[in-house]
Amino acid sequence: MFDLAGKVAIVTGGSRGIGRAVSIALATAGAHVLVNYRSNEDAAQETLRLIREGGGSGEILGFDVADPESVDECIKDAAKRLGHIDILVNNAGISIDQLLLRVSAKDLEMTWATNVNGALYCAKACIRSMMRHKWGRIINLSSVVAESGNPGQVVYSSSKAALLGMTRTLAREYASRGITVNAVAPGFIETDMTADLPDAARQSIIDQTPLGRIGRPEEVAAAVVFLASEEASYITGQVVRVNGGMHV
Ligand code: NAD
Repeated sequence: MFDLAGKVAIVTGGSRGIGRAVSIALATAGAHVLVNYRSNEDAAQETLRLIREGGGSGEILGFDVADPESVDECIKDAAKRLGHIDILVNNAGISIDQLLLRVSAKDLEMTWATNVNGALYCAKACIRSMMRHKWGRIINLSSVVAESGNPGQVVYSSSKAALLGMTRTLAREYASRGITVNAVAPGFIETDMTADLPDAARQSIIDQTPLGRIGRPEEVAAAVVFLASEEASYITGQVVRVNGGMHV
């Protein structure tokens, strides 16, 4: 439906879960997708295999989003080699769930380093190429809990709320350069991140979700592809909520 032929996209944390679904969906729409991974190269290769099986094109790109030098080097090298980076999906994220009284400085540092600083490093590394071509899309994976809050997720939810501030500010900073910046805020989605949730907690989430079920990674990916498309050219600084009505 949406045509991304000729575009180059980077998806951070693209080896599994939502990142894998986003990588496949962008490639299906015609983009050449750089599937970023931190340590699990085999899983990233599997995403690439699925992309190629569907007739798409891509490659894998290993770097830790929390390491600014490595982000800069890898993304600049890819931009030079491929000529341009058009779409950045800041998907890599971690969740360390604790009530405030149990939160350690290390939990905070690790979460911020990946979820917030990582997204900023990647945006900074991509933005020059986007400015040069007067076209770009940055899509940040936030979360329903950034807006609703959730007991036990103070570190995670505040990092995801920080991404909303980043989204709105970058949207204003780069609108005149043809770059849009938006966030997608998923509700509860079936991935490794949510796999360990006890049955009672899972049922409680389903009960709070008007659509009465957990979401699929592909349903998040569909929103990302739309925001990356030409058709979304007048949308910037917005939050697209993919949460089954859990927070309205
Ligand atoms: P996941 O844990 O299955 O995947 C996260 C990916 O990020 C993994 O591939 C992991 O290796 C990668 N990653 C983590 N740290 C990294 C780093 N420093 N450098 C590079 N890659 C790194 O999680 P998911 O459920 O697919 O979530 C994807 C995104 O969506 C995350 O940002 C998450 O916070 C957000 N999200 C998920 C849900 C959900 O219910 N699953 C809900 C709301 C938001």
